[in-house]
Amino acid sequence: MPPLTALSLRDTPRHQGMRRQLIEELKSKGIADPAVLQAMLEVPRHFFLDHALSEMAYQDKAMPIGEGQTISQPYTVAFQSSLLEVAPHLKVLEIGTGSGYQAAVLDRMGARVYSIETIKPLHQPAQSLLKHLNCRAKLFVGDGSLGLPSFAPFDRILVTAASPSVPSALQNQLKVGGHLVIPVGTLEEQTMLKITRHSEGEFSTQSYPGFRFVPLTGAEGWPG
Ligand code: SAH
Repeated sequence: MPPLTALSLRDTPRHQGMRRQLIEELKSKGIADPAVLQAMLEVPRHFFLDHALSEMAYQDKAMPIGEGQTISQPYTVAFQSSLLEVAPHLKVLEIGTGSGYQAAVLDRMGARVYSIETIKPLHQPAQSLLKHLNCRAKLFVGDGSLGLPSFAPFDRILVTAASPSVPSALQNQLKVGGHLVIPVGTLEEQTMLKITRHSEGEFSTQSYPGFRFVPLTGAEGWPG
């Protein structure tokens, strides 16, 4: 993560112009949710990258954030955020804080965000950056494959790392009427699942193939 210097946290008209272009690109790729597009127009993605990468922050690409992890491609952030059907005041759990960018986008959409990260050296800079940006998201360190039982249940749960299966803890921590969005598959390729809880024991699933995330580790993830 960049140090919180005035240099790395300047949102210039040029950055804003690149961001507007990115939003047009996302629209042309089929992202239509106005709340998602507006939030991504407002959150400066380059703040979440190392200063050396800030020129590339508005390309539709995943980028390294250290510790072998990546900030997701903007299209993927937009796609997951759209599937989640976020509305103001909904309680949302994100698994895989990473840079904090996705959490900031969800916060901008008015959600009450809880986000958990297993790698402490990623959690810490995300925590200071989000605080600096007046983002209300609450960040935690731990194994998100087990959810966040002390704050459950959640209206929405979003997993931003590739999972070998759907962790039962996450299904159990979902409110009735809620959605869980999670990429499930092999380490090479995953299908995005949108799981809706209709009653205590009844769930339905929609799937969208063709994604690639870094692995979910932990008790219900891939062996680290
Ligand atoms: N949402 C992030 C991108 C995350 S990349 C962003 O906007 O930048 C996926 C993240 O999930 C990585 O940081 C990885 O360390 C984290 N992760 C992997 N397994 C995890 C687990 N069991 N619990 C919490 N975080 C996990």
